Amino acid sequence: RLYNEVIELKGNIRVFCRCRPMNHDEIAKGSTSVADFDSAQENELRIIGPDSSRKQFKFDHIFRPEDNQEAVFAQTSPLVVSVLDGFNVCIFAYGQTGTGKTFTMEGSAENRGVNYRTLEELFSVSNERSDIMKYQLFVSMLEVYNEKIKDLLVEDAEHPAKKLEIKQSAEGTQEVPGLSQVPVNKTDEVWELLKSGSRVRSVGSTNANELSSRSHCLLRVTVLGENLVNGQRTRSHLWLVDLAGSERVGKIEVEGERLKESQFINKSLSALGDVISALASKTAHIPYRNSKLTHILQSSLGGDCKTLMFVQISPSSADLGETICSLNFASRVR
Ligand code: ADP
Ligand code: MG
Repeated sequence: RLYNEVIELKGNIRVFCRCRPMNHDEIAKGSTSVADFDSAQENELRIIGPDSSRKQFKFDHIFRPEDNQEAVFAQTSPLVVSVLDGFNVCIFAYGQTGTGKTFTMEGSAENRGVNYRTLEELFSVSNERSDIMKYQLFVSMLEVYNEKIKDLLVEDAEHPAKKLEIKQSAEGTQEVPGLSQVPVNKTDEVWELLKSGSRVRSVGSTNANELSSRSHCLLRVTVLGENLVNGQRTRSHLWLVDLAGSERVGKIEVEGERLKESQFINKSLSALGDVISALASKTAHIPYRNSKLTHILQSSLGGDCKTLMFVQISPSSADLGETICSLNFASRVR
């Protein structure tokens, strides 16, 4: 595939920025948009400061508020398809709560996101290749909350299986023994499966959206490939990750459980930033072990693995500080 040739030239790490539209609340409160896309370059964005100064950011692609789910997936699909060629792939959605991480990855029934479209695309491409390749696809879904791993595809959400741990296999890959793996064969089964995982994610919380903003949700697609011509077999993983909200929480308002949560989130998001920027700068030591998130993903980050990060931002002047923080984070990993 042409895309993979392009990737060789540009390296294996991509950053896309996606800016959501202003919502009614923001408009009603008189917020203005700080995002200026008025440039000939589709990979440039300027953020307008309170003093009308402009700070420029460049990414591999920038999605504007009017860009829909199809447009986003059109840019993402070559990368997800490379899992069928035996590559490990990680896709992350990073950003402040409310900027559209879940919209991009999960989406809604009317506006399906990257996760569903990915499986649809994998089924379609594996069908096209069926005379030379035989593929089997499995889906797992897990949550990392306060450095604890929870299986989201369990039968009984009220009585989840025992705590999951990361173990290194004899081949040196990172595995999560006991994690459910559901075989998937066709698109029809997938939406309900993904929905059931999201429901388990919010069990035990009074406010589903609130808890989901403080945990990382990881969807893993495992692909077993067999080349029918030469008998060669491959096993590869594609990870689709809806990260915890990156917003800094004020020291004064936060105590107890909430403080612990935010420390875990800070630690794991900065560990992720450290790993990706170490990979981008080709540093010898990659600090995978500093968080559960990066440790689980160790075999799928680095080497010839492919990484894509969506940095999600709000256009609203009320979110300016967090927007700048997210864009700086994303610039560091690029
Ligand atoms: P996050 O997961 O980052 O907290 P959400 O995905 O829940 O954010 O998005 C917050 C709200 O904004 C939701 O109501 C979502 O439907 C809406 N939204 C986010 N991105 C877009 C977009 N690109 N177009 C339309 N609505 C969006
Ligand atoms: Mg969310």
